[in-house]
Order: sequence, then structure tokens, then C-alpha cells
Amino acid sequence: MKKILVANRGEIALRVMRTARKMGIKTVAVFSEADREAPHVRFADEAVCIGPPPSNRSYLLGDKIIETALSLGVDGIHPGYGFLSENAAFAQKVQDAGLIFIGPDPYAIEVMGNKLAAKDAVKGYDIPMVPGAESAISDVEEAQEIARQVGLPILIKAAAGGGGKGMRIVEHEQELPAQMERAISEAQSAFGDGAVFIEKYIASPRHIEIQVLADSHGNVVHLFERECSVQRRHQKVVEEAPSSVLTPEVRAAMGQAAVMVAKACRYKGAGTVEFLIDEHLNFYFLEMNTRLQVEHPVTELISGVDLVEQQIRIARGETLSFTQDDLHIRGHALELRVYAEDPYDNFHPSIGKLEVYRRPRGEGIRVDDGFEEGMDIPIYYDPMIAKLITYGETRSAAIHRMLEAIEMYQIEGVATTLPFGKFVCQHEAFTSGHFDTHFVQHYFNIEALKESNREEGLYAALLALQLYTEEKKKLHIPEVGGSNWKYFR
Ligand code: ADP
Ligand code: ADP
Ligand code: MG
Repeated sequence: MKKILVANRGEIALRVMRTARKMGIKTVAVFSEADREAPHVRFADEAVCIGPPPSNRSYLLGDKIIETALSLGVDGIHPGYGFLSENAAFAQKVQDAGLIFIGPDPYAIEVMGNKLAAKDAVKGYDIPMVPGAESAISDVEEAQEIARQVGLPILIKAAAGGGGKGMRIVEHEQELPAQMERAISEAQSAFGDGAVFIEKYIASPRHIEIQVLADSHGNVVHLFERECSVQRRHQKVVEEAPSSVLTPEVRAAMGQAAVMVAKACRYKGAGTVEFLIDEHLNFYFLEMNTRLQVEHPVTELISGVDLVEQQIRIARGETLSFTQDDLHIRGHALELRVYAEDPYDNFHPSIGKLEVYRRPRGEGIRVDDGFEEGMDIPIYYDPMIAKLITYGETRSAAIHRMLEAIEMYQIEGVATTLPFGKFVCQHEAFTSGHFDTHFVQHYFNIEALKESNREEGLYAALLALQLYTEEKKKLHIPEVGGSNWKYFR
């Protein structure tokens, strides 16, 4: 592969191009009229405007993107996440055009793109699943029967769902008919597929997912877990690796299960197998995301593996150059998704211009972003400005570094989730590791947010930092260096 086209925008386009450049591969950016000045466009060796701002007239135009690739002598297309990344028909067209799709085969995308098909595919592999319906249901009586079997509360989910959308909790039987009707119509309008199914609602779950890598020669490894339990609207905001609760035994069992899921769909490339775990560390398969995940950097930091480089190597047909035994967890990493959203106003998108934009810098701090000072946050796309990632030898070191980085990050012109990150990193439930997916629901409110972002809070955090720095000196904790840092700016 000598030249790749990145069919995406923002931080992920830039992230992919950086690794491509490191590997001596030329890059092509495609962009919409809203992204003319975007860093991913300027970074690429070549860039082509493919249409007006709305994504269905630009970033989702698969045929136009393939045409562009062919006309520029590209050999491979990297889809990033979102947009066309989990579109099996697009992956097929890329292959039919004689290009390499940097991702799994269309078959795996198709199977895992539907939560019911995914469950069906992994059935024979002894993988624990959330109790519930095994096929789509549209009949209220059938739903009531399943609800009685698994016990309330239940969750009605869209088979084609994603991005935290299309889920409805039912706590009382009388709500079931109305919730089902809503779930079906939501699924139809959001995903063009009204199929819904039922899962038992796990009361106090943690979201823990396993990163896998599979080559085209049948070798599959896992790169441990990421914990993504801090969510709002079923969508992740803070992620970390490793999880603070897994024992080595459960980690190994989940890793093994994830490898089996990958084998079940003849997976190729980098993928993520998502699980929920309950208070007793029982784990249940949720779904597989057949692409690079937003939160992949935390895995890169603790494993020292550049996941994009592996995606490209695997797409070129190379054999994995390491085995499971070669992989080890080193240190701890956290990621905060810095969205242009106002945590003081129910996480409403806050659109505007980045009047001031200064990134934090320093050891153990990585910022993956796609903006520069003075740029507008386009209204057409996901309002994520950046991912702020920190690394430390221990979990508390990574948390302290996150607080330090949040203080250093200067963003003016739009509201962001930075104060929320500060709230999380100072909250006892988070620092002690005793939290679940209801963290926001249980602990978050405006008063608590204000409290944690008051000056006293700031001083407390700085004091803790100072104590930590002194302690670190006393303990002679080595400064972070070596292989984990090669992906940093
Ligand atoms: P991750 O698990 O990588 O954090 P998210 O669920 O946050 O992934 O989704 C990553 C991106 O892909 C987001 O921009 C999200 O809106 C988009 N996305 C995910 N699944 C779908 C889907 N089925 N339809 C539309 N967009 C999706
Ligand atoms: P998506 O495709 O939107 O990412 P997932 O099935 O991965 O959907 O679920 C997203 C989130 O919704 C999970 O991380 C979890 O917080 C919540 N969730 C999903 N299924 C259940 C369940 N059965 N019980 C409790 N919470 C769930
Ligand atoms: Mg998911």
C-alpha cells in the first residue's frame, strides 16, 4: 500500500493519516465544504472536496469517494469510525473496485452490524449473553411473555441500533405496549429498520469492552479491556484502561470470549467486543463494533501497540508480529471526550467559534483533535472537539494528570465537557473505582458540578497534585518513557 484515502474527518482522519505518514504511505483527504480549512485537509498529501456540508451529500457518498480514490491512484480506503465505517455495502464496493478496505470483510460487518444476527453468530461458542429474546419481536403479547420470563425491568433495543440510540427501559408491565411502539418507530426512523428485541435490564452494570486484532491467517489476539461506564445518554464520555475491577481471571475469560466472537465472524482487523458486567463480575456479550473505536488510544497507551498501524498491516495481508503472550498491560490510561456540549445545560450541543484554543502539553498527555484556534465547530457533525488522554504508572497518577491537563486546556467560545471531566476525576465514586453506568444519573447535577469546579475545588486538586508529585519523587516512580510514547506529538 503506497497511498490511502481516509473517508472521514476531524480527529480520526488526522489520527489515521499520522500513522500512515509514519509508515511512509501517502494520504488523501476527502472533505465537505464545511471542512475546507480543517487540519485533516491540510495534513493530507492530497485533498479533494466531495460536496456540501451535510454528510449525506459528502462523507456518506460512497460511490463518489471510491471514484476519487480510483482517479488518484489510491490503493486502500480507511473509513475511520461513524460515517461509512460499518457499511457492509460500501466495504463490498471498495473491494469490487479493486481497492483494499482497511477493515473487516463485508460479511463480518453485516453480521455484527445487527445485534440479533451477532447473537446468533456467536451462539455456538459458549459466550454468556444477557437473558432475553433471541429474535425480533413486534407482538406485544410475545414481549409480555418474555418480560415475565426474564423479569422486569427489561430493555427494548433496536437490532440495527448504535450510538446509544433506540433503547427503551420498561419497568412496569403496563408501560410495555407504549414503549414498544415508540422503540419500533424510533428504530425505523433512526436506522431504517424497525426490528426490536428484548434484553433483561442489568441493574448495576459496568460497560467493559475488549480490543481484538485478527489477521487474515487465522491469528487472533486481544489487547485487554477498556472500561467505558461513565456515559450520558448511553454514550461514553470517560474511558479507561485497564478497568479498576477486573481480576486477572475474569480479564482472561473475557479476552478469550472476545477472541471467540472474532473467530465466529471470521474477523479481520481491529475490532471491539462489548460486554456488560454485573456486581458479581459475570459478563454478558452486548455487541461487536467492527471498526476502530473512538476510545482506542487508551489501549495504545497501556499496550504500546499502534492500532492503526496494525489495521494497515493486516489489510496488507501481513501476519501479526506478536502473540497473546507478548502482550502486557503497562500503566494506566484515561480518556475524556471533550465535546462542544454544555454540562451546565443538560449536555446540549454548544455551537460556535473556538475563540481561544490552547492544548495542554506535557509528559503523559496526549490530545487527539481536529481543530485549531479560530475555527468554527460545524453544526453538521458530531460535536466532539478532542479526546484528552492521559497516562500514568498507576490509576491515580493517570487521574491526577487528567486534572492537571484539564486545568491547562484553554477553550473559549463554546462550552465543553472539560468541567464534567474535572467533576468525574474528583468524585469519590470514580477515584475509588466503585461506579457503574449510572454514574451520571446517580451523582451528577449542576450543584455538584459547580462545587467541583469552584476555586476551592481547583486548589484541592492542585494540592493533591503537588502531594502526588512529592510522593512520586519519594517513591522514585520512574518517569514514563519508552515505547508507549511513540504515538505522541
Ligand atoms: P464508540 O463505541 O467507538 O465510542 P460510538 O457509539 O460513540 O462509538 O459511535 C462512534 C461514532 O459512530 C459516533 O459518531 C456515533 O454517532 C456513530 N455511530 C455509531 N453507530 C452508529 C449507527 N448505527 N448509526 C449512525 N451512527 C452511528
Ligand atoms: P450501542 O449500539 O448504542 O452502543 P449497546 O448495546 O452497546 O448499544 O449499549 C450501549 C449502552 O447501553 C451500554 O454501554 C449500557 O450502558 C446500556 N445497556 C445496553 N444493554 C443493556 C442492558 N441489557 N442492561 C443495562 N444496560 C444496558
Ligand atoms: Mg455499543
